[in-house]
Amino acid sequence: MSEEFFDLAVIGAGIVGLAHALAAARLGKRVVVLDRDAQANGASVRNFGFITVTGQERGPVWSRARRSRDVWAEIAGPAGIAIEQRGLAMVARRTEARAVLEAFAETEMAEGCVWLDAAAAAERLGPVRPAELEGALFSDVDLRVESRTAVPRLAGWLEAVHGVAIRRGVAVHAVETGRVETSQGVVRAEAVVVCPGDDLTTLFPAEMADASLTRCKLQMMRLAAPGWRLPAAVMSDLSLVRYLGYAALPPAAALRTRLEAEQGAWLAEGVHLIVVQSADGSLVVGDSHHYAATPDPFASEAVERLILDEFAATFGCAPPPVIERWTGTYASAAGHNLVRAPAEGVRLVTVTSGTGASTAFGLAEEVVGDLYGVRMGEAA
Ligand SMILES: Cc1cc2nc3c(=O)[nH]c(=O)nc-3n(C[C@H](O)[C@H](O)[C@H](O)COP(=O)(O)OP(=O)(O)OC[C@H]3O[C@@H](n4cnc5c(N)ncnc54)[C@H](O)[C@@H]3O)c2cc1C
Repeated sequence: MSEEFFDLAVIGAGIVGLAHALAAARLGKRVVVLDRDAQANGASVRNFGFITVTGQERGPVWSRARRSRDVWAEIAGPAGIAIEQRGLAMVARRTEARAVLEAFAETEMAEGCVWLDAAAAAERLGPVRPAELEGALFSDVDLRVESRTAVPRLAGWLEAVHGVAIRRGVAVHAVETGRVETSQGVVRAEAVVVCPGDDLTTLFPAEMADASLTRCKLQMMRLAAPGWRLPAAVMSDLSLVRYLGYAALPPAAALRTRLEAEQGAWLAEGVHLIVVQSADGSLVVGDSHHYAATPDPFASEAVERLILDEFAATFGCAPPPVIERWTGTYASAAGHNLVRAPAEGVRLVTVTSGTGASTAFGLAEEVVGDLYGVRMGEAA
């Protein structure tokens, strides 16, 4: 690669990098995205593709998720990305879970949500529901895409329609103001945004270490098409003590106490349930959370069993056969994201809460807006 000049160089072609490329391209900037992999291979294609608004942490994170959902909805058609599912069913099996969801339904975060008690929820869920059902919160604001096709399509659309240059197989070794040193030569750009996902050691390791970042490993499965359609993405009681939009509500303390007594093994492995459905009917199911600087790459059968047991309890039926297994990792720390300015015209950005598909577009508008001194998105 001979020396080239751009307005903005983005390091990382995951969803966070692509979101920054879109925000800058919308300001008319000439953008290059550099990624060491030949194709998207990180967290952005290993996730559920679940663009979750409901349950995100109250305040800026929730607002960022709403903005990101709007951007996904706006670009999906033009970029050829199918919205596979709309909405969420938070299924409550315990009275304590019901109390959390009823409290949630009273908050401003419940916009687009309705709490249904057992009889009404059973009707909406159909025959595939838990034996003990307290009710369910249904939301119509959340979306689901098939990440393994959506992310490459987003990249292709950015190239074709927004003139973004995407260079793959290019490892970045060093970044300073105006200059990016890569395995294929130097790229010059007025500004640089580094979106390295969970690579915590290559670029700006001191900033990463200062923020106490670690990595989180998740186990995921695809189950064969069960012969029925989900009314929406489905989550269960365990999620109510994980997702901060619910977990920070006062009634969540009693639910946690009960879950510790009844499902201590699930909590110890960081297991909760998300089930989403693909166009062919197959189900993407997870997950678990294990933290380490370098997580091992192995998927545990015992952890898988816990996820599938939660599936069986939530749907009142045996899970269909597992047809695919994988693990994924993301950067993790307290708080939603790490945004730093390690040099003039340089930003380091990573999402540290495992919600990048749901929040990257909103976050990118904040970062790019700040970089160029303009207001973007809802703030504009
Ligand atoms: C199993 C799993 C399930 C998840 N489910 C969801 C979900 O349903 N909804 C949700 O909102 N979030 C979910 N998440 C979180 C979400 O996927 C991540 O927050 C998001 O994908 C992070 O995007 P990213 O672009 O930062 O990282 P990545 O997708 O990992 O991309 C980072 C890119 O940077 C490149 N890179 C790094 N360093 C360099 C370098 N020095 N030179 C060149 N290239 C470099 C890498 O090659 C990589 O392509 C999930 C995560 C996992 C692992």
